[in-house]
Amino acid sequence: MSPMNLRPARLLLAFVLSPFTCLPAADSTLRPNILLIVADDLGYNDVGFQGARDIPTPHLDRLAASGVRCTDGYVSYPVCSPSRAGFLTGRYQQRFGYEYNPKWDATAVTHGLPLSEATIADSLRAAGYTTGAIGKWHLGAHSQFHPNRRGFDEYFGFLGGGHRYLPGSVAEVEIGAGKKATTTTDTEQTSAILRNSTEVPEVGELTTRLGEEATASVTRHARDAKPWFLYLAFNAPHTPLQAREDMLLKFAALTDERRRTYAAMVATIDEAVGRILAALDSTGQRDRTLIFFISDNGGPMTKRNANASVNSPLRGQKGDVFEGGIRVPFLVSWPARLPAGRTYAPSVISLDILPTALAASGAKRDAKLAALDGMDLLPFLTGQNNSAPHARLFWRMDGGEAFAVREGNWKWLRTYQNAPQLFDLATDLGESHDLAAARPEIAARLAAAVVEWNRGLIPPAFGNNPFGGLINRTGLEKNAAP
Ligand code: CA
Repeated sequence: MSPMNLRPARLLLAFVLSPFTCLPAADSTLRPNILLIVADDLGYNDVGFQGARDIPTPHLDRLAASGVRCTDGYVSYPVCSPSRAGFLTGRYQQRFGYEYNPKWDATAVTHGLPLSEATIADSLRAAGYTTGAIGKWHLGAHSQFHPNRRGFDEYFGFLGGGHRYLPGSVAEVEIGAGKKATTTTDTEQTSAILRNSTEVPEVGELTTRLGEEATASVTRHARDAKPWFLYLAFNAPHTPLQAREDMLLKFAALTDERRRTYAAMVATIDEAVGRILAALDSTGQRDRTLIFFISDNGGPMTKRNANASVNSPLRGQKGDVFEGGIRVPFLVSWPARLPAGRTYAPSVISLDILPTALAASGAKRDAKLAALDGMDLLPFLTGQNNSAPHARLFWRMDGGEAFAVREGNWKWLRTYQNAPQLFDLATDLGESHDLAAARPEIAARLAAAVVEWNRGLIPPAFGNNPFGGLINRTGLEKNAAP
């Protein structure tokens, strides 16, 4: 599309997005830079803007104050890789069989984001953006899945689901099905740090380094004629619990050693975000940069890869379809377009990031691609549209071991070991008072909605339950309707 052809659409976009002025904004704000920052296994209550008292996060709090904090922001899966497959495509990832973490195995050549799917980077790159990814990839470690082949011009990071933070360090890690390894024997934890496809030395604490790479990227592209999109995926505060000595000293008052290290890891993310925000300010890009911040799933408090996170007041944790597994810290900031200091309560989901970014950029998605599940949030976050972005949000885990749906304040869920449960989140955020028997008509309606949604999904295309045996033991079939 030529610039001439784009112009009417741009002007219309400017009008639609500017509820506080009738004039189109300056052209530089029409195609914002877009920065998507993702934390890994961060608890719902573990940053200042969510209420944490023992982990100061002044820079993330400043980011929250500069935009909209979504209190009911969800991800589409309660573990790492399927959640990423969802938000990078804007589609419920079970539609294309993505329901397990890819196995770190040379023979698992199908384990990754299917090539039939387009990423947010594919669409923004086609629209003229410079695209970069930094950090944890975890969408397939085989060459056809490499970030450079999934829409990203530039990549710096590692391809697996985790990495040790301190070069040469030894720490115990859980690698599934009750197995443990150390960061020196688990190759995923010691895999190459890559710049595009070239290995670079493992130097310095990893979260700090990822932040430095991101700061360098936004500075390097500050004066480009093209806008940029950067996907910054920290692996912190995922295990192994490791942090810089100077950060640990800042949290010496925390007597629980694991919580102390976790807090230092979250503070290192905050420090990195502060440096990136400072770089955006000093290069004059902040107002025209749309920033999202989320965690890829809830904190693992007691289960596998537990990291001393806290999801209170939510019930459950990573791996659950209770709120603690799927509701995450969720920020959207774009000073040129979105109000500052707003709290937004209706349910939103990480699948909305892609359509929101595309609407902000004016990018068009290939019409031949399958439909998105996410919504453009801009009219909702500006207050222009006061209805809820989603009538219902859905979850399915492990090919059908668990299902959940949220409709308004109602939350219905069924797990492999329990009868269906119904909660009213308006009065019972902690999901402790099951109303399925008291409100059977609502439970039945939501169960039927899940059955209908499930018809649009396919069986898992790869992988298996890392905990092993649960599906057969309970007699539930994979992909069974609830
Ligand atoms: Ca995760």
